[in-house]
Formats: sequence, C-alpha cells, structure tokens
Amino acid sequence: MAFPLFDMTAQVRTRFAPSPTGFIHLGNIRSALYPWAFARATGGTFILRIEDTDLERSSQAAVDVIIEGMKWLGLDHDEGPFYQMQRMDRYKAVLAEMVAAGHVYPCYMSMAELDALRERQMANKEKPRYDGTWRPEPGKVLPPVPEGVQPVLRFKNPQGGVVAWEDKVKGLIEIRNDELDDLVIARPDGTPTYNFCVVVDDIDMAITHVIRGDDHVNNTPRQINIFRALGKEPPVYAHLPTVLNEQGEKMSKRNGAKPVTQYRDEGYLPDAMVNYLARLGWSHGDDEIFSREQFLQWFNLDHLGRSAAQFDEAKLRWVNAQHMKAMDDTALAPLVAEQLAKRGITADGRLSRICGLFKDRCDTTVALADWASAFYADVTPSPEERAQHITEAILPLLATLVEQLSACAWDKAGISSAIKETIAAHGVKMPQLAMPVRVLVMGTAQTPSLDAVLELHEKQTVLARLKNA
Ligand code: GLU
Repeated sequence: MAFPLFDMTAQVRTRFAPSPTGFIHLGNIRSALYPWAFARATGGTFILRIEDTDLERSSQAAVDVIIEGMKWLGLDHDEGPFYQMQRMDRYKAVLAEMVAAGHVYPCYMSMAELDALRERQMANKEKPRYDGTWRPEPGKVLPPVPEGVQPVLRFKNPQGGVVAWEDKVKGLIEIRNDELDDLVIARPDGTPTYNFCVVVDDIDMAITHVIRGDDHVNNTPRQINIFRALGKEPPVYAHLPTVLNEQGEKMSKRNGAKPVTQYRDEGYLPDAMVNYLARLGWSHGDDEIFSREQFLQWFNLDHLGRSAAQFDEAKLRWVNAQHMKAMDDTALAPLVAEQLAKRGITADGRLSRICGLFKDRCDTTVALADWASAFYADVTPSPEERAQHITEAILPLLATLVEQLSACAWDKAGISSAIKETIAAHGVKMPQLAMPVRVLVMGTAQTPSLDAVLELHEKQTVLARLKNA
C-alpha cells in the first residue's frame, strides 16, 4: 500500500479553493484559515484559487466577499487568485495527454441509457454506477459508435486494489477501487469536469497539503487515482469536519449563515475572529484566548478536531470582548472611528482615551461606538431615566455644578473638586448628584467614574447638557 510520502524538506504549499457560488460564511472561511496558518507556521506558501467553473451559480459579488473577507481577517495569499475559468486551455492540454496515454476513453452512453441502467441497478439493490460498457479492454468488442453523438470522456479507474490515504484529521481511509466507477472527466463539448480540474491545479500549483471540508472526502480517492495516472503522488490530505450552526444544522447561507464581512460590520475584531475560528476545530491545550502570533506558533495539523464544531455567537462575543480589552486603545480607536463614520460622526484625538474608558463594558466596536457617539453627537436620555433622576429637588445642585464647572480647570482634578464642592455645598451624597449628571450628559445613569467621563467631553457640551435639565 503506497501512502503519499511527503518530503519534509520540501516547502509547504497550501491552498484555499472556494467556489464563489454564495457569500462565504464562517464555516467556509475556516477552510481558508487552517491552510493559511499552516503555510505561515511553516514558512510555506499559501495560494488562493477561485473554483468558478459552475457558471450559473458563480458570481463576481461572491468572489469579492471572499477576497474582502480574507483581507479583513489578514489571511493574505502569496500566489493567486487563480481562476479556473482562465485555465481551461491548460486542462484541455492535460486532457489530451491523458487521451494519448490511454487513461481515458470515449463513452457514448446516452442519458436515457444511463437512466435505464441506474433503474435496473436500483431494482437489483445494487449501488448505481457506470458499468464500463465503453471501457476498452484487450479482446473486448465495443458496441458500434452511434452516429452524431458527442461522447463524454471517462477516466479508466484502476480495477482491483484499494486507494488509501492517511488523513491528517480522519486517520487512515481506504476505498476499494471497485467502489469507484469510471468518472466522466470531460463533457460532450470537451469541457473538463470538477475533479479533474482540481487535480491539474493541485499538481500545477505544487500543493503539498490539501486542507478542506470533509464534504470532499468522497472525491479524494478519485482525485488520487487521477494524480497517479498523471504520474504524480498526491498531497497530504486533511479533511475538516463540518461547522454546525447554533441549531445544530450544517452551516449554510440557506439556513441563515451570515457572510463573513457582516461580522466586520457588526464590530468584531479580525484577531478575535481568527482566535474564535481557530478554536472551532483545533485546540492547543485549554487555551481559549490567544493572539494571532501565538496561534501561528502553535498551529499544526496534529490537533485538528475530529468531530463537527458548533458555532456559538455568545462565545464569539466573549472572545471579541477579551480581545478588545487586551487591545491598545490607539489601535482600537481607528476601528471605532470607522463605525462612527458610518453614523456620519467624525472622531478626533479624544477617541483613544474614550475607548480606554469604555472598552471593558463592550463586546463589539459597535457597542463601543454607541458610547463614543455621546461625545460627538447629541444624547437623548430615555424618558424613564429622566423621570427617575431629574427631579425638581436636583435642579439647585445642577445650577451649582454648572457654576463650579464654568470656573474650574478642565481636567480630572479640576472637575473632581468642582463636583466635591457642589456636594459639600448642598450636603448630599455623591450618587445623588452623579446619577442625574450622567443621565443628562451621557444619556444613561450607568457610566464609568464621573470625572473621567466629563473630562473627555468638551466643557461647553457638558454645560449645555446640564442646563438642559
Ligand atoms: N471548491 C470547493 C469548495 O468550495 C473546494 C475544493 C477543494 O478544496 O478541493 O467546496
């Protein structure tokens, strides 16, 4: 039994080969993350290949989301994007070599005959498969070639023996060649079919490790046989288990999976997303929160999970919150500025300090932008909070505070003593003043410490809001 022998001295070359037939979701992009990480972790090369041969279902918009999503997550590719539709001449040239070498043969079986064959097999409780009618064998007489029929080309699958590979996720997989019928590798119009193109690409792109979803396990023995017919040894395979959605179904856009780029718009950080996706099918001990650098230091193909992983949005939010906490305020600020820009707000130099003050309370940059917008746009306290906190009794306190703040130096110490003076003058406790001030200035009574919040506002804004009691 021959296993693909990988020369460990050779450079690792991995690829992500999405079909742009729908907007790429988290389950799909995980199949980009691992080959990217493996290439980066080993100093190898990562290739992007767009499998766009399904003309009816492929779209440029879907390609754009793939490229944009990968860019957002920092999954940079070294080669490509290669488009299969632009490689048709190459596939046809290899097909011609296969014909010349006798690895393929024309098959004239019509659709109606194939259907009839299938029905007979089903009736006999056999697995439906092509029966080799047109497969040339020494001494075999083939049926007369029907007139005016363009044949398909079928691959002469080896007969007898097994195809086996040591899958990096699933372990040893063995398929008997007798289970595999002769695959159509070119349609009547001469266009090559999917499995053939994949093999030609993986050979031409010198791919050493194919890391992909396990919906392709059934294709693998066929692809391995085509590799060998072309005189090449197949790469190492790692077939990743499915990603399930929160309902436990296979994640798919048909059941509501969001395009990857939507998570960017919802305020997730690329590093948090990489962290979360990495854990969705791979582990490094009990580590839940790690940086991109740590991930690349740790990643290998030996700790890929064997069972399906389930998406959990609450956990994603938690991971995002941890990354926001750990992130430098100056690095966080431009991301929050982007969110503010979408609301027509232009931020300024205060934003990184605002981020520092509020980021512990937020799990997305959108939530952080909600807080930050109070510093740049009008706030409207909820009628309930107004009714609860802005009472007649509080108005004289607010008047004193306005007086004190108008005269004080606009820094934390100055503001803090203005607040203390006001409390002392009226003989009240801190919360009696702080709550209404928060409601008027920030729109809500739950904020970080008052002097820190006020200091980050412009003085005129605070005075105007307090006078609006
Ligand atoms: N184009 C295939 C898909 O999107 C991937 C093929 C491969 O990785 O070999 O599922």
